[in-house]
Amino acid sequence: MNLIIYNLPMLYSKLFGKTKKQSKKYDSVNATLLIKAGFIDQVMAGTYTYLTLGLRVLTKIEQIIREEMDKIGNEVLMPSITPIAHWQQTGRFDTVDILMKTTPANIFAKAKNDTEYVLNPTHEEVVTPLAKKFILSYKDFPFALYQIQTKFRNEPRVKSGLLRGREFRMKDLYSFHTSEVDLKKYYEKSKEVYMQVFNRLGIGKDTVITLASGGSFTDDYSHEFQTICETGEDTIFYEKKTDTYYNKEVAPSLAPEVQYKDEKMLPRKDVLGKGIIGVEELAEFLKISVEKTTKTLIYETDDGRVIAAAVRGGYDINEDKLRKIVKCKALKLASAEIVKKITGAEIGFAGLLNLPKEVEVYMDESVDNRLNFETGANKTHYHSINVNFGRDLPKPKKFYDIKVTKEGDSNPKTKEKYQVYRASEVGNIFPLYAKFTEAFNYKFIDRDGKEKPIYMGCYGIGPSRIMGIIVEKYHDDKGIIWPNAIAPFQIHLIGLDLKDKSIKSKVFKVYKELLDKNVDVLFDDREEMTAGEKFADADLIGIPIRLVVSKRTGEKIEYKKRSENKTKLVYIKEIL
Ligand code: ATP
Ligand code: MG
Repeated sequence: MNLIIYNLPMLYSKLFGKTKKQSKKYDSVNATLLIKAGFIDQVMAGTYTYLTLGLRVLTKIEQIIREEMDKIGNEVLMPSITPIAHWQQTGRFDTVDILMKTTPANIFAKAKNDTEYVLNPTHEEVVTPLAKKFILSYKDFPFALYQIQTKFRNEPRVKSGLLRGREFRMKDLYSFHTSEVDLKKYYEKSKEVYMQVFNRLGIGKDTVITLASGGSFTDDYSHEFQTICETGEDTIFYEKKTDTYYNKEVAPSLAPEVQYKDEKMLPRKDVLGKGIIGVEELAEFLKISVEKTTKTLIYETDDGRVIAAAVRGGYDINEDKLRKIVKCKALKLASAEIVKKITGAEIGFAGLLNLPKEVEVYMDESVDNRLNFETGANKTHYHSINVNFGRDLPKPKKFYDIKVTKEGDSNPKTKEKYQVYRASEVGNIFPLYAKFTEAFNYKFIDRDGKEKPIYMGCYGIGPSRIMGIIVEKYHDDKGIIWPNAIAPFQIHLIGLDLKDKSIKSKVFKVYKELLDKNVDVLFDDREEMTAGEKFADADLIGIPIRLVVSKRTGEKIEYKKRSENKTKLVYIKEIL
């Protein structure tokens, strides 16, 4: 039989990128299994080649996304490289911390063209000027453009295989509106369409809409689509009473109370703890619980104020929450000089006692309700212990919530303890309002002939991360278990005893019948491999249905689902 007439990638013997016998264990299940099974190849950490099998999966994921996005937008394809001027116009060239640019690699390249370009991590800087070229009249609003494309981000730590890369796939959609009301309407619609995407991808029941920060320019939330997954890098907090999921940055928090058994107020003293800065180390050194320590950080605001913010040991300061309470546009940790000037001490020994009047002090509620607590002494290497409100410093009129929420915390409104889940962000939608349209001076002409602001939203999904998450969620100790909708093939056909001419011709006949019926089939036609090796490969690759034709199957075919253990003998007709 002339094999060439058949589609080559469907013959496993001809497939480039077969399973690996020896393959190392990577930092994540998805990298380990996808590389071992021949779906992807790691070029360097965070950068992968999609081999034939992997590309089929990625393409299926992207096609599902495309079909759903076509309901709410027009597909386009924007370039990956963009003039730096676009990014300067929005001010993001100097501020986006994951932004990358290209430069000519050597003197010859430099001599030919010395221009540098931005490698886009997102496309507001391309899509906004694009829209402005075409649509100006109120009659043409609302509209939305989307693309499915490769993005570049200078991630500080790439990890977990496809979950966090420096080069990765994204679907990004941008919508344009003549009013905030219209933006909100579209925004709500996009949530429905997104959930439909995740349902079709087989992760819908585990994907939840989570409140997240809307960015520094608004008090609004953005919404993340978080897929619950043990190995995800995000932590989300669920509050049952209001059926709300929050991400770590925005979850309001109430710390569990510290318990004191018959403890009395002790005399305050300053203790020398040379070089001891971290709260764990400090608590051990002082022989007190971490909850009794206090972390005080000094910040400078963009409008020139100096701020002291305090949380109890074990918590971190949430700068987003702090910024909103302090009412400033931006804040940063104060320089060593300012810290010295304000506290009289080196960084690391700032505390709540005797701060100068001009410093605004914000204490988290976790600092309250403690007895004999510790705080930096505002004296290099010294810590004050047995500090008490009322005696050593006045109790502040107000405490705040300025901490990063942790497992064990409650919601301050409902007093309900959060249920905490690990999750991975598969999508994120943002109301951008006029932030970018204003930067590009993009306005529309209304009915009354007047120019008015345009409101924008942006909507992302990560197809390559989704591929990784699906492997994280759907695998066993033998390999991947692909959901039907995105499996590289529907059927994994295995021929055994192929040296026997009659078996060989029977299995090729089955193969041809499947192809004729347009069934997506991967045919393991290798003669030299044992049954055991072929079965192990099928389990590793994870195609939903395995068919075996061998001496033993007679007129029938052995049928097995990847997700089940039982096999049965069936006729080809039943399969078709
Ligand atoms: P994260 O918080 O995980 O860094 P992000 O909020 O910066 O992501 P968005 O700008 O919202 O990401 O991008 C849209 C989607 O692209 C994300 O929801 C995620 O699914 C995917 N994505 C973002 N960064 C990466 C990455 N480094 N590798 C793979 N996928 C990514
Ligand atoms: Mg996001």
